[in-house]
Amino acid sequence: MSTTHKISILAGDGIGPEVMDASMLVLDAAAKKFSITLEKDSQLVGGAAIDATGSPLPEETIASCQASDAILFGSVGGPKWENLPPEQQPERGALLPLRKKFNLFANLRPGVCLPSLTHASPVKNELIPNGFDVLCVRELTGGIYFGQPKSISEVDGELVAIDTMVYKKSEIERIAHIAFTAAKARDNRLCSVDKANVLQNSVLWRQTVIEISKEYPEVELSHLYVDNAAMQLIKQPGSFDVIVTGNLFGDILSDEMAMISGSLGMLPSASLGNKNDNGLYFGMYEPSGGSAPDIAGQGVANPIAQILSAAMMLRYSLGETAAADAIESAVDKAIDKGLRTGDIFTGKEGETKVGTVAMAEAIAEAI
Ligand code: NAD
Repeated sequence: MSTTHKISILAGDGIGPEVMDASMLVLDAAAKKFSITLEKDSQLVGGAAIDATGSPLPEETIASCQASDAILFGSVGGPKWENLPPEQQPERGALLPLRKKFNLFANLRPGVCLPSLTHASPVKNELIPNGFDVLCVRELTGGIYFGQPKSISEVDGELVAIDTMVYKKSEIERIAHIAFTAAKARDNRLCSVDKANVLQNSVLWRQTVIEISKEYPEVELSHLYVDNAAMQLIKQPGSFDVIVTGNLFGDILSDEMAMISGSLGMLPSASLGNKNDNGLYFGMYEPSGGSAPDIAGQGVANPIAQILSAAMMLRYSLGETAAADAIESAVDKAIDKGLRTGDIFTGKEGETKVGTVAMAEAIAEAI
């Protein structure tokens, strides 16, 4: 008997609705093949929600998310709403409250460069002959972005700014468990990134990660200072499997990873909260890129980031691993066949330029 999974679909703005519709072709194909029943509830978010209701995150949208097992998110924002006060803007007014409301403390960002797409990476091709596949696990709700006190005030006649970096041991433990579990499902290697030569936060971080590692003897644990990690990611991205790090370092390293992967249009992400009784995480899944207003409405956006976000949702929140695997390998097949949206098209022999829908249809067919 199949379980019914409830998901909230928040397509948002710009290319969001286009790539979301495309991802539904693939999700439905996977659901059909693996006899999964999905109950989808589409709701407004971001600029589209501001236009319709005056709020970037209406109550109805929050209620839908609360009643769901996971949120599949598109992207929000665009020039139309850029002049609103910061807290009313689509990103600040929708994304941050959703993260806070659902305690989404773990951000998983895969940085994958397929062997056939190494030319799209700014890293020299001879350094990445086989592409690479790194997973960055970033702590999302603690650290220097949220620590108190936080202020700019006048002290002895001049302005002084204070940000406070705080990590509780329990916060480090829970993100470490997610990272070790992810490494176990991959190549069993975890690199913890900190600045333990300077920061007390990092001393506790390293000590705690080492303690948790005893529960995962099969995972090989290593440590890097963040400055070195930033260099090694460019020099030999293929040497990493899973990276775990705090909020600030993760913010920077995951963007570096996105950059060296080639196209934002290929990269999904997951933000996970607490585990439910079935051992699965409530999560929000979204492309790493934004609403791409420069190409919105043209049918040319790459739907793969949204499609792979749906695969991550099946894996982490719905426990449908076989369907997630099938979507990921169908994406590889479409790329191997030479299909390319504009962002990854180079005109090389064997490549065919396709639009959003054609790419999604080919992936759905490969399932
Ligand atoms: P962006 O990620 O939207 O675009 C950067 C570049 O990447 C653009 O050239 C765009 O065309 C390209 N790109 C992104 N996704 C693509 C895809 N799927 N296929 C092909 N090309 C793709 O970043 P930006 O231009 O800095 O921001 C645009 C808007 O998006 C802003 O309003 C910003 O606030 C918002 N934004 C939203 C999110 C989110 O919703 N999570 C994240 C980042 C930015």
